[in-house]
Amino acid sequence: STDQPRPHVVLLASPGAGHLIPLAELARRLVEHHGLTATLVTFTDLTSSPEAQSGVPASVATASLPSVQLHDLAPDTPMETVLFELVRRSLPHLRTLLSSAAHLAALVPDFFCSAALPLAAELGVPSYVFIPSNLTALAIMRRIVELHDGVPPGEHHDLPDPLELPGGVSLRRADLPCSFRSSKEPVYAHLIEEGRRYRHADGVLVNTFYEMEPAAVEKFRQAAGEGAFPPVFPVGPFVRSGAAEAGDSACLEWLDRQPTGSVVYVSFGSGGSLSVEQTAELAAGLEASGYRFLWVVRMPSMDGQEDEGEHGRGNPLAWLPEGFLERTRDKGLAVAAWAPQVRVLSHPATAAFVSHCGWNSTLESVSCGVPMVSWPLYAEQRMNAVVLEGSVGMALPVGPRARDGDGDVVVVSRGEIADALRELMEGPVKGRAVRRQAGDMQQAAAHAWAPEGSSRRALEEVAVAWKAWRGWRGEAVTD
Ligand code: UDP
Repeated sequence: STDQPRPHVVLLASPGAGHLIPLAELARRLVEHHGLTATLVTFTDLTSSPEAQSGVPASVATASLPSVQLHDLAPDTPMETVLFELVRRSLPHLRTLLSSAAHLAALVPDFFCSAALPLAAELGVPSYVFIPSNLTALAIMRRIVELHDGVPPGEHHDLPDPLELPGGVSLRRADLPCSFRSSKEPVYAHLIEEGRRYRHADGVLVNTFYEMEPAAVEKFRQAAGEGAFPPVFPVGPFVRSGAAEAGDSACLEWLDRQPTGSVVYVSFGSGGSLSVEQTAELAAGLEASGYRFLWVVRMPSMDGQEDEGEHGRGNPLAWLPEGFLERTRDKGLAVAAWAPQVRVLSHPATAAFVSHCGWNSTLESVSCGVPMVSWPLYAEQRMNAVVLEGSVGMALPVGPRARDGDGDVVVVSRGEIADALRELMEGPVKGRAVRRQAGDMQQAAAHAWAPEGSSRRALEEVAVAWKAWRGWRGEAVTD
C-alpha cells in the first residue's frame, strides 16, 4: 500500500548548477525506478534561484541548510576553499536535519561535501560519495591520496608530469584540473583531505558509464577487489530531460527553420566566457566557416571564467564585432547568456557542438550523439577534453591545443576555428571517425540506462543494498 514506508536517501549537493543537475537526476531515478524516497539538500535556497529549481523533478523532496557566515574569509580565497569551509561550517545544521529524517537509509554527499561522511558514520548510516564528473577525475583524486600515504602532515608532493592513468590517458600538468596542478596551492591540502575521506565511504557513484571509460572501470573494480578503494559504481549519464528546461523558445523556433544536420551550436557553459579579442575571433571564424550557427554569447572576461563584477552585467551581444549580426542574419543566431541546451542538442538541425567540455555538457552531447569541437577554458575542462579527444574519440581540438597543448590562454585564430569546424562537419577521415564515434557513444549511453543496461544494474545493486540494510526500519544493526 502507499503508506508502506520506503527507505529514504538524503543527497547533498555542493553549490553550482553543474553539481545540482546530475544529483537531482540521480535522486529522481532512485525514486522513480528503485523504490526509494529522496531528499535533495542544498546550501542555498533553491526557491530564490528559479533556474536551479527547474532542474529538480517533482518526485524529489528538497531542503536547504540555513546559511552560515563566511565573511571572515579573505576576498581572494580560492573558490574550492570557500566551498570546503561552507560545508564544514554547515555540518551542525546537517546533523540536525539528518537526525530528524525518518527511515534514513543512506547519505549521498557529492564530491565537494565528503566532510559529511563522518556524520553518516556517527549516525551509523551507509554513505556513498557522488562524483558528478568522471572516473578520470576520481583516479586523479585517488592518486593524490596514495602519493601522500605515510607522508608527514604539511608535506605535499606534486603529481608526476605527465600523469599516466588507466586506458592510456596521459595528462600533462597543464591538463590537470587547476587545483591539482601545484602542491603549493593552499587548496591542495584540502583535496588530499577530501580524497582521504572517500576511502571511508561504502561506495562511490560516478556520473559516467562503462563504454565512456572502460579501462578506468576495470581498474577501480580491481582496486575494490583488493580492498584498496571502495567499490565504484558507474551509474550515468545523468542528463536532465529537455522538457524540464525553462525558457526561451526563440532558439528552438529558429532551429525548426534550419535544415537537418546543418547547425553548429556554440556554448561555454554556465560560467565560461571569452576575452573581447577572442569573442571577435570566434565571430570571424564562424562567419568564415560559412556554417549555420547558434551561439550562446556571454559577457567577455580576461581569464575564461565569468566575471561577476561590473563587467558581468549588461548585454553580451553588444560585444560582438560591428556589423556581425547583420552580416550573418541568414546564417546564424546569437543569444545572450543562456539557451535550453538539452533541447538544442537533441534538435535534428544541430550537427556539432563547440564546447568548453564541462562534464554535463559533454554527457548531453553524448546522449544526443553530437560530435564536439573541444575548447576547454578552466577547472577540469582540459582533462575532460583530453579524454574526449583521446580514448573516447568524439571531439576534435581547436587552435593552440591542437598544436602544442600549451596551458596558457592564447587567442585561437579565425582560421583555426573555421578549419576545426570544417573537419568536424565534413572531414573525410578524422572528422568522419569522430562523427561516427559520437553516434556509437550515443547508442552506448542509451543502452547503459535501458532495462538491462550497465548503469541501471549498477544503481539497482546499490539500491538493493540500501533496502536490505535494516537500520532504516529502526532495527538494530550489528556490524
Ligand atoms: N546550460 C544550458 N544553457 C546554456 C549553458 C549551459 O542549459 O546556455 C546547462 C548545460 O546544459 C549543462 C549545464 O548548464 O547542463 C552546464 O554544466 P557543465 O558541467 O557543462 O559546465 P559548467 O557550467 O559547470 O562549467
